[in-house]
Amino acid sequence: MEFDRIFIQPLTSKYDCLLFDLDDTLYPLSSGLAKACLKNIGDYMVERLGIDESKIGTLSNLLYKNYGTTMAGLRAIGYRIDYDEYHSFVHGRLPYENLKPDPVLRSLLLSLPFRKIIFTNADKVHAVKVLQKLGLEDCFEGIICFETLNPIQKIVSSDCEDEIEFLGNSSAVSHTTANNGIFDIIGHFAKATNGTEGLPKTPVVCKPLEDAIELALKIANINPQRTIFFEDSVRNIQAGKRLGLQTVLVGTSNKPKGADFALESIHNLREAIPELWESEMKSEVIYHGNVPVEASVTA
Ligand SMILES: [Mg+2]
Repeated sequence: MEFDRIFIQPLTSKYDCLLFDLDDTLYPLSSGLAKACLKNIGDYMVERLGIDESKIGTLSNLLYKNYGTTMAGLRAIGYRIDYDEYHSFVHGRLPYENLKPDPVLRSLLLSLPFRKIIFTNADKVHAVKVLQKLGLEDCFEGIICFETLNPIQKIVSSDCEDEIEFLGNSSAVSHTTANNGIFDIIGHFAKATNGTEGLPKTPVVCKPLEDAIELALKIANINPQRTIFFEDSVRNIQAGKRLGLQTVLVGTSNKPKGADFALESIHNLREAIPELWESEMKSEVIYHGNVPVEASVTA
């Protein structure tokens, strides 16, 4: 029998799975992809949804803050969005050429004898492209992405009132719903007394919703107690912590509440968490494979 890759399972390790966010976690924020993505999202809102340019900054912030992603928020407040077109618009023009192969990270990942899975809010095309650019496409068992968590909502319409599910008393939100059927979230928060109560609910499943993380764990058959979650987002880390994951904030060495570790860069993994490599090793080979990046947990 041939083995393309051989992993030796640690005998005494507390862990058996490493769960990685993708963007700004496996490559640095300085690559410029996040900044370009933010601009593309703003352009999409102006060009495709006809939103006034002067509102983009405030609206994007409110949607991101309250719904996890801007797109989840746009859907919540009533915009029609073709998910594939949206992802192609906001990711298609990213400066992927800024991402270079990362042999240091590749070597670190391949030396870790655990299951390794990507968990991103982004779409599959983007995730695969980023991993290919970084030279990491064969380092992971699979990818949990937008399509994995939102499998039946490829093309959606919010023409139907019933599609928008409101939290709380519907009469409380009617006065903040604009004539065009779009919920006026800027107007909602402009009233000092308004909080998140009365906000419409999004149909999009994404981090940091605990339901999204729970679903990802279930799909990939992950035991949170034996899994380390790597993320650049503090709120995603905190949601993961509430569900029992060990957590590593990537991108800063300042450890916030909810993080077990904090790394300036994913490259600091060995220095920050040496215990990952320190367990006694079994002498027998117990896992092998050359699993493609789009494995069973991919949509
Ligand atoms: Mg990220």
